[in-house]
Amino acid sequence: MENQASSASASLLETLVSFASVSLTPNIALIHKVQDILAEAGIESMLAPDPQDPSRSNLFATVGPVGVPGVLLSGHTDVVPVEGQPWTSPPFEATHRDGRIYGRGTADMKGFVACAVTAMVAAARQPLRRPLQLALSFDEEIGCVGVRHLLRRLENSLPAPYLCIVGEPTLMRIGTGHKGKAAYRAVCCGQAGHSGLAPRFFNAIHMASDLVASLRDVQRELAQSGPREEGYGVPYSTVHAGVIHGGRALNIVPSECEVSFEIRNVSEDKPEQILKRVLERLAERVKKEALDPAAPLPDIQMTNSYPSLNTREDSPAVGLLASLLPAGTPCARVDYGSEGGLFQQSWNQTPVLICGPGSIEVAHKADEYVELAQIEACDRMLAGLVEFLCR
Ligand SMILES: [Zn+2]
Repeated sequence: MENQASSASASLLETLVSFASVSLTPNIALIHKVQDILAEAGIESMLAPDPQDPSRSNLFATVGPVGVPGVLLSGHTDVVPVEGQPWTSPPFEATHRDGRIYGRGTADMKGFVACAVTAMVAAARQPLRRPLQLALSFDEEIGCVGVRHLLRRLENSLPAPYLCIVGEPTLMRIGTGHKGKAAYRAVCCGQAGHSGLAPRFFNAIHMASDLVASLRDVQRELAQSGPREEGYGVPYSTVHAGVIHGGRALNIVPSECEVSFEIRNVSEDKPEQILKRVLERLAERVKKEALDPAAPLPDIQMTNSYPSLNTREDSPAVGLLASLLPAGTPCARVDYGSEGGLFQQSWNQTPVLICGPGSIEVAHKADEYVELAQIEACDRMLAGLVEFLCR
């Protein structure tokens, strides 16, 4: 077992892992650490904290000329919780074993953050002709929540980046897209009453199950005839109910039932149109079941959403990133969301690509790890990028 970090990035990754920056808990100590490292290299950085809670913050820094489009490196500093997972080494302590670094966030995505900070420091010593920029966020894992505070600050003050690289784990492949997501909470209201007289009362669970059945109707339609985007595990938009709560006792007609569901849409679909179809199917069911037309329909609120990401494989941005990676590096779509869709939305024409060390297969699990070879590959890509920015 070697316990020596082999590069500046690997060593910084060890430090970053030691901050237990779980989503919704403070990340400010980690942010200050990065700020100190950048400051030592003469790079100023700007913090964009949660307005309600300054213990959680984004960081933005730029190095090189100002007022010129640059390349933005984006990473999130939060990690998912470790409770209930069978870790064989301490999750918030980097452990070297078999050419890998184990620890929470090593793949998702402190490995990339470490490489990106190291690249910023290296770039500060180079005669850049275009800037290299760093955007680190908080609370990404709970629906890209934190970065929105940063984007509001940057939108009108920063020229649209030439390229944005989101370093989520792709095994250093070129991620050109991901689906969008919209999450909803539906509250179905009924009337409490004696179950012996059940048909006299509106049953909230019955309405909720009609809603779930309508979600499944629409899923079937999307699978059969919805737009397809190849490269995803499921090449069409998906609809799914994830949480349901309702009822108090078997002998009481339930007065309330809550269903949480989500839509994950390919870029050709719009979640609001899919939701509209769900409500149409529900109306048909209510009619077919001859439910009392006075029965209240579910009250549906969107709880979170982020847009899909779709960057053309023949775009110059893909050409640039491919030129920094080994010949033949494939393009791929990824089955998770990222801040990339929000970056693309903020600066309309900015090409956004996902490329980072480690595999999503080991993320969010016990014994998450990143191969040291992946960190080295990311360092090489970013060194090539810094060279490109000097041209
Ligand atoms: Zn991530």
